[in-house]
Amino acid sequence: MKISDKYSILCDSDFDNIKKVLETKKFSGTSEIVKKYEKKLASFFGSKYATATSSGTTAIQTALFIAGVSSGDEVIITSTCPSMSVFPIIFAGAKPVFCDTEVDNFGLKIDDIEKSISTRTKVIIEVPMWGYPTDVKKLSDFAKSKKLPLILDLAQAHGTKLNEKYLSSYGDISCFSTHDRKIIATGEGGFILTDNKEYHERTVSFIQFGNMNGIDFGLNYKLGALQAGLGMSRIDYVKEQLEKRNKNAKYIVNNIKNNFVEEFKIIDRGNPNYYSLLLMLTSSNNLRIIKLLDERGVPSDVVRYNYKLLYEYPIFKRFKKICVNSEKLVKNITTIPVHPALSGEELEYIVDQINNIK
Ligand SMILES: *Cc1c(COP(=O)(O)O)cnc(C)c1O
Repeated sequence: MKISDKYSILCDSDFDNIKKVLETKKFSGTSEIVKKYEKKLASFFGSKYATATSSGTTAIQTALFIAGVSSGDEVIITSTCPSMSVFPIIFAGAKPVFCDTEVDNFGLKIDDIEKSISTRTKVIIEVPMWGYPTDVKKLSDFAKSKKLPLILDLAQAHGTKLNEKYLSSYGDISCFSTHDRKIIATGEGGFILTDNKEYHERTVSFIQFGNMNGIDFGLNYKLGALQAGLGMSRIDYVKEQLEKRNKNAKYIVNNIKNNFVEEFKIIDRGNPNYYSLLLMLTSSNNLRIIKLLDERGVPSDVVRYNYKLLYEYPIFKRFKKICVNSEKLVKNITTIPVHPALSGEELEYIVDQINNIK
């Protein structure tokens, strides 16, 4: 059996919404549907303002710009995140400063941030991986005490909660992707959430050429109307999708009988969205297990993306700063698909493959 790690949906309402957009004959990012989509996003996430962007990457670029990050500045981030979280920092002319994670989750370790802050530090970025919550409450309190804005890269964490609240409620600026692989999928796309009026105004200006007022700088990072139409119908399906993911993950976890495989630790008062099920492996050769599962048709993001710490890749080597906890963390985890399209038979197959490992 070969389990797919890609989840594609088609809702009846997709056709209705796209048809409505076509009938308006207005397809640019300034069309009415984009504003409607933004209102719907803000209301879903309980945020004051939402702005749709052309991708998750441009959402991060925008967040850095409005937080005032420019040439020579430093940005605190973990090295466990994907390259897409860090490229925008480098493109802004700033320097990513890799800080360690906690021992058993992807949250930034406050002690290490404390040691790494300099006069050039401009913002802190947290990237909760595979939709597992990190302690963004503690991090937000810390960032406030240092007067540094906290940007959350929630590209994988739509719907992830801490203290019964979406993670975005703890960020000064939260960035999301709606790429085809993400929980809200519009093909390409992204959005920014904030409760801060000034940040919001600067975002709206930046993504449309600085309002072309001859004073402000800006680029074109707007989301097109057809994508927004798709987003409109996909938001309605998020809650049901997360319930199914949760149910699939619980089924697998409850049936694991192998004593060196368990679910990744979920922090206190946290709820993952199960973008993927994360497993913690404690065998003497974890990579062998991950590759074996992958060969037997249970795909892992660790294999697909050659997952390792960013500073292990040539393009980020110059920013290398050993992160002890992160080094251990990435060697002990793997991902398992739990998306709603999996059948009962496929879920059983996954469990069998995990339990068959010797
Ligand atoms: C997908 C992703 C991005 C990039 O989003 P795009 O829409 O593909 O540009 C950024 N950060 C993280 C953590 C992601 O998973």
